[in-house]
Amino acid sequence: MNKFATLWHMFQHHLNPDCAFCGLPRMQGYPLCEPCHTDLPWLDVGGVPALPDCPTSISAFAYQAPISNLLLGIKFGKNLRELATLGTLTATGILPQLTQVPDALLPVPLHTARLHKRGFNQALELARPLAKHLGIPLLTHPVQRDKFTLPQTELDAEQRQHNLQQAFRIHAPLPYKHVAIFDDVITTGATTRELSGLLLANGVDSVEIWSCARTLKSTTIKHS
Ligand SMILES: [Zn+2]
Repeated sequence: MNKFATLWHMFQHHLNPDCAFCGLPRMQGYPLCEPCHTDLPWLDVGGVPALPDCPTSISAFAYQAPISNLLLGIKFGKNLRELATLGTLTATGILPQLTQVPDALLPVPLHTARLHKRGFNQALELARPLAKHLGIPLLTHPVQRDKFTLPQTELDAEQRQHNLQQAFRIHAPLPYKHVAIFDDVITTGATTRELSGLLLANGVDSVEIWSCARTLKSTTIKHS
């Protein structure tokens, strides 16, 4: 999304005083009304099982309605208002769970072909409010997704890990000691584990995994 589109969206958002979900008046400086805010499937510290090989994983929401619907709508519809709303909600869910601030935030990259088709990387767009609020860099270039992987949802756990092997390439060691990786949805954690291993082999001392949503049961979802 270019800067102009973001600014235009912010302007539109400012003009619209209604809750992004139900149309009732929203809370001051927040995209939702209070009942819609309260009804969301918020997670808190210790609310999710730890990911294998990753001591710190933080998610704002359980992957269920209405968050799951929003994520799918954003992925296929490029709805800028929904993207900004979910970015704000994600930051609202993650910030109170933090015990320390990482040196940088790395959204999981999309393969260039997929990025061109979709026009934006939803992980990057959803991470923007977090990086801005924390005053840390949002890393968009140091890591590239080389391999055009199959959608993880079409594979079993073993295939998923194999599918992602050497999916990412790093251009140079990172000058950050503590990096948080951000993805829109975490299911098995295979994608973020692959990326995490790459960072730890390239100058990073500790990695956290953050996400907008986390699947808590084995459910069939469509994301990639
Ligand atoms: Zn509402």
